[in-house]
Amino acid sequence: MKKGKKIYEGKAKILYETDRPAMVIQEFKDDATAFDATKRGSIKEKGVINNEISAALFQMLESKGIPTHFVKRLSDREMLIKKLEIIRVEVTIRNISAGGISKALGIEEGVVLKSPVLEYHYKNDALHDPLMNDYHIEILGLATSKEMKKIKDYSFSINEILKDFFDKVGLKLVDFKLEFGRYKGRILLGDEISPDTCRLWDKKTNEKLDKDRFRRDLGRIEEAYQEVLKRVKA
Ligand code: 5GP
Repeated sequence: MKKGKKIYEGKAKILYETDRPAMVIQEFKDDATAFDATKRGSIKEKGVINNEISAALFQMLESKGIPTHFVKRLSDREMLIKKLEIIRVEVTIRNISAGGISKALGIEEGVVLKSPVLEYHYKNDALHDPLMNDYHIEILGLATSKEMKKIKDYSFSINEILKDFFDKVGLKLVDFKLEFGRYKGRILLGDEISPDTCRLWDKKTNEKLDKDRFRRDLGRIEEAYQEVLKRVKA
C-alpha cells in the first residue's frame, strides 16, 4: 500500500491518500488539544497507543456486527481505513455524568444516569461544536432522517458492546464520542475510539484513565493510556 499525498491534518490525526481511491491511511499523532484547542500539548507515544486501542476496538465491534471504516493496522501509528464521506455530526453517549452534561445541566460528576443520554454536536470548529438536535441536522442537510436513525441505532448498540467489553477489564465507560460517514451507500463508524474520545474510569478506584488527565493536569497521562491499552489487549 503506497502512502500518497496528505489529504487532511486534524488535531490528533493525519489522513493520506493511497494508490487505491477508496482507501486512505489514518496516522495518529502525539499532539493533544483540549478546550477548543486553546490548550495544546503532546502525550508521549499517544499516537502509537491510540492506533492500537482503536484497531482492537474496531475489530471487536466488527465481530459484533457494527460496520466500521477499519481495514487493517499498517504500522505503529498508521491504519488503513475506507475513505468515508464524513457526516458532520458528532454523536456523544453518556452513561455517567461528567464534562459537558455536568456543566450544562448542573449534575455533579459521577452520577450514574437513569438511562444512556445521546447528544449530537455539530462538527464545526469555528462554531465550537454546538449541541444540536434532529431538526438542526435536517435544516442543515447534514444527513437524512433514515441515516440518522441508523446512526442512532448503531450508537446505542456500540454503547452496550463497549460498556460490556470495558466492564470485563475493570473499566467504567463514562461517555464517548463517535463519528460516522458514508461509504458505497452504507453508514460506517469512522474516526477513532480511544482514551482521547472516551472517558474511562477504573471500576474500583474511579481513577481517570483518559484525556481528562491532560485536560485537568492530573499527571501520569501516558501511564493511563498505556493502562487502557494493556486492559484492551488482555
Ligand atoms: P464532553 O461533551 O463532556 O466534553 O465530551 C463527552 C465525551 O466525548 C468525552 O469522552 C470526550 O472525550 C468526547 N468528545 C467530545 N467532543 C470531542 C472532540 O471534539 N474530540 C475528542 N477527541 N473527543 C470529544
